[in-house]
Amino acid sequence: MKKKKILFAATLLSAGIFACACNTNKTAVKKINYDYLVLVNKYSKLPDDWEKNIELVDVKNAWDEDIKVEKEAYENYKKLKQELKKEGVNIELDSVYRSVKEQQELWDEWSKDPEKGIEYVKKYVATPGYSEHHTGLAIDICLKKDGKLVYENDDMISDRKTFAKIHKKLSKYGFILRYLENKDDITGYAYEPWHLRYVGSKNVAKEIMNKNITLEEYLGSIKDINNNKEAAKYQIEKTLQKYFEDIYKDKIINSRFNVTKIYTHEEIKKNETIKSLKIGKKDVAFEVTYQLQPTDESDINELMIPNGEYDQELGWVININRLGILKYNEKKGIYSIKNFGTGW
Ligand SMILES: [Zn+2]
Repeated sequence: MKKKKILFAATLLSAGIFACACNTNKTAVKKINYDYLVLVNKYSKLPDDWEKNIELVDVKNAWDEDIKVEKEAYENYKKLKQELKKEGVNIELDSVYRSVKEQQELWDEWSKDPEKGIEYVKKYVATPGYSEHHTGLAIDICLKKDGKLVYENDDMISDRKTFAKIHKKLSKYGFILRYLENKDDITGYAYEPWHLRYVGSKNVAKEIMNKNITLEEYLGSIKDINNNKEAAKYQIEKTLQKYFEDIYKDKIINSRFNVTKIYTHEEIKKNETIKSLKIGKKDVAFEVTYQLQPTDESDINELMIPNGEYDQELGWVININRLGILKYNEKKGIYSIKNFGTGW
């Protein structure tokens, strides 16, 4: 066991998980309260509990107006802006978060206006609940050139050179271009070079941008997670987080995971332990290292089961590599964790 412990620490170090091991600041830990890959479009409504969970920060847009944006998206936006500035490209925030209520007010106000009317509103204003701007993860940018703001749609669309530079940098900070050219049949919107969407992961963003696909297409491919490792990792981490929150309820403040291996179908066939678990075609066998942050030190013994240890300095229970199965329930269309910790 000792040997494995050392191996475990080395794995974590190489994975960069403990890059800030000396930093005990709890806010530095990422907790996913919401799904950064949430799909909101003309046909997919914002989840009902979204607005009460979303963490927004107050910022100013290009016109010095008070606006709000999701916290992590904004942190990454600042880095993107900084890097573009070095290349002589200046971007500013335009429209960002809009609550369902604000959208409803806009909808009501405009439909009462005799010059606009309901037909006009239907055409130009997204139905409340169906705008990606409700998520706080969508950012409309505008440009600043020679001290002047460039914000009109047509002016931005024709500035291909500047936007090519911007789009090249997006994935590095977890952003994608949401409304691609010639994909309006999928997204429901025409090309919008200014509408950026934060997806919470550089790897996911890279995959989407490199393949020149829409979020709709990417999420479609997630359903086939056996052929998509990044999607599988994302789904495993998300499902594990829920799994731990359910079994430990108020006993953990936080959890974090590092998926170290995803078994291919060939490997499963050769592995007697995993083979015996009767894995379905859409299930995924994986190995993960994980850590739990206890709410109260009196709970740590329970959290250490089966073979974790408590790192006093970090204040986290760190655990040995475990094997698990991500099961897909075809009828309900949901994932769950099965056989966690089996036969290692
Ligand atoms: Zn937009």
